[in-house]
Amino acid sequence: MATKTKKKSAKKKAVRKSYVPGDFELRVGRSKTGLGLYAESEIPKGACIIEYVGPQISKDEEETINSLYLFEVNARKTIDGSPRWNTARYINHSCRPNAEPNIHKARVFIHALRKIKPGEEIAYDYGKAYFNAYLKEVCACPKCEAKRSGKAPKKKTLAKKMAGKKATNATAKKKKAA
Ligand SMILES: [Zn+2]
Repeated sequence: MATKTKKKSAKKKAVRKSYVPGDFELRVGRSKTGLGLYAESEIPKGACIIEYVGPQISKDEEETINSLYLFEVNARKTIDGSPRWNTARYINHSCRPNAEPNIHKARVFIHALRKIKPGEEIAYDYGKAYFNAYLKEVCACPKCEAKRSGKAPKKKTLAKKMAGKKATNATAKKKKAA
């Protein structure tokens, strides 16, 4: 069964992905929820935008570290993306993302899902576990804002309260397991 799925995706991938970030102008700027990463030049669909970098931490450290930017690459490797030189850490979540993370040789690269215009904020989907644990009530993406304003305006207060609280992917994972 696994072979079948593999074949299918291989067919779909006509163009091979590049894992060398392009020379795009990026800017860290104010977003709805704090800071975000913005495109300053046009990024073509499928382009490699940036690598998510940081020191590798052990499984033990993962349990105790106080970082908002843990990225689980695989069962053995987690990156602590909190250093400021990891510009990719400024990329926010969106339920309608224009980018996506891809793991290649145990490294994390962010690719454009579609053409991204200058001035546009770059965002990717942080995943279901993280979303359900921390973003469900506060997600500021257009899709969620529309959903909330149409349904329950009361939740706005809660959203504001929770916006200040951030947590780690590691905690999200733990919560899911519990
Ligand atoms: Zn959303």
